[in-house]
Amino acid sequence: MSESMEETVEALLSCIRKHRWLIEMVKSKVFYELCKQHPTQKRCYFCCDCMITPFCSTCNKETDHKSHTLIQTYRSSYQTGVKKETMSKYMDLSNIHVYSINGFPIVYINQRRGNDNHRFRNNVSRRCQVCEWELDAASSALFCSMECKFRSILGSQLDDLMENSEITEDSEETVEPVKKKRHRRKGSPHRAPFF
Ligand SMILES: [Zn+2]
Ligand SMILES: [Zn+2]
Ligand SMILES: [Zn+2]
Repeated sequence: MSESMEETVEALLSCIRKHRWLIEMVKSKVFYELCKQHPTQKRCYFCCDCMITPFCSTCNKETDHKSHTLIQTYRSSYQTGVKKETMSKYMDLSNIHVYSINGFPIVYINQRRGNDNHRFRNNVSRRCQVCEWELDAASSALFCSMECKFRSILGSQLDDLMENSEITEDSEETVEPVKKKRHRRKGSPHRAPFF
């Protein structure tokens, strides 16, 4: 490993130590899935302080994140992105491709998935160095997403970091954020059945 590469690893690790939620964010696979508590709404918020599973706007109102660093995410082409302006406060976004959603420059959180046609088309001049997803020919970026940049720099260390992270998705206890106390009517069941 070259000296500059080691420096990059060190820089990214120290960034992650400072903002541990970066790993939780990249690890989360539920952005824009429907909220369990509010099944008509999508999980588009991430709280850097609570580091819980992404939640919907009603969860956000019902839970007190006011003094927290809250990151709103956006959706385009089945990918979840964060405004470049927001994300650049926390990490070095260089070499990550900048997409656009509603005119805002955004970076995708995760490696692109789904339709593999993109990946295997011939005559593509630029591809993500990690997942080989096709990138804009005019782009000078090396990676399609934050995840691919992390993967390129950290390799299997990224798996270790993800394994040791705090959120266990789909576990009822951790899915529910710290809630303000809700008033329940006397005698009403703890949890209303769905049918
Ligand atoms: Zn919700
Ligand atoms: Zn919070
Ligand atoms: Zn990629």
